[in-house]
Amino acid sequence: MKNLLIGAVLVAAVFFVAWKATQTNKPGPARQAPQDAPQEAPRPEAEAAPSPDPFPHSAAPEGSAATPPPVVSPAPPAEPAYTSKTELGTRREECLYLCGKCGKVFSPTEETMQAQVRIQWTDAIDCPYCNGQRTAYFAEACPSCGKIYAQFPNTKRDEATGEIRKFCPQCGTDPVRWVLRIRKARPASPTDPPATVLGPRREDFRFLCRKCGANFSPTPESAQKQTRGQGKTAIDCPLCYGRSCADAAVCCPKCKHVYLAEGAKALCPRCKTDAVEWHRTKGGTKSGTK
Ligand SMILES: [Zn+2]
Ligand SMILES: [Zn+2]
Ligand SMILES: [Zn+2]
Ligand SMILES: [Zn+2]
Repeated sequence: MKNLLIGAVLVAAVFFVAWKATQTNKPGPARQAPQDAPQEAPRPEAEAAPSPDPFPHSAAPEGSAATPPPVVSPAPPAEPAYTSKTELGTRREECLYLCGKCGKVFSPTEETMQAQVRIQWTDAIDCPYCNGQRTAYFAEACPSCGKIYAQFPNTKRDEATGEIRKFCPQCGTDPVRWVLRIRKARPASPTDPPATVLGPRREDFRFLCRKCGANFSPTPESAQKQTRGQGKTAIDCPLCYGRSCADAAVCCPKCKHVYLAEGAKALCPRCKTDAVEWHRTKGGTKSGTK
């Protein structure tokens, strides 16, 4: 009988020490808990329930046991002591890599890249910024919206043709189709260049060509020269060399799709965002605008 009692006390002591150890061992997740808490609906109820508990004596151990439950996500695994094979080179537009882990864009040195990429653009290389192992993919700037995106993770097989197509994750443009459309519309020998001069890319000053479908930002000077006092709004397309075929367009503030506004309305045909309303509310909360 005595032995049993001592045993019970011992077991209780061991449990207490073990519990104490788990509490002190994870200060990280415990501190994160309040951040996650608002998203977890059951928590306020769980706290509310024990307080009107009719057993005040058991309140102390039960209360402390009730505080940890906000199911703490396991601590992130420690970073492996891995040293990236990639060395940073000078930035080259034709050789961009985008890390899917840290989001950095970089150009590797030829040597370190070739040591890792044996096949082609589908291969991932190490990231020299976050030390990620094979996390960076060959990237390019979307010709339509300018966002730099990783090519291979944004490919999809066309069910009908079996063809592998790339899509910009920001505006949905297929860059290959985009360029092909312009090439088709462009005359073989553009001996008579258009009056429009390409300027730096601007979201608030985009033109859309009705002939080749390309969108671009002209220099304000070259555009004004063509529209001033002539009663016309269309300008020449510097990409396909079409005459008076590009109109001032709206760049969707949300998905970056470029489209022609109809009348006073500026409703994006792709994501249905009202650009006028968006700018009036200054983008709102940016994430949730519906
Ligand atoms: Zn990275
Ligand atoms: Zn794009
Ligand atoms: Zn054009
Ligand atoms: Zn849109």
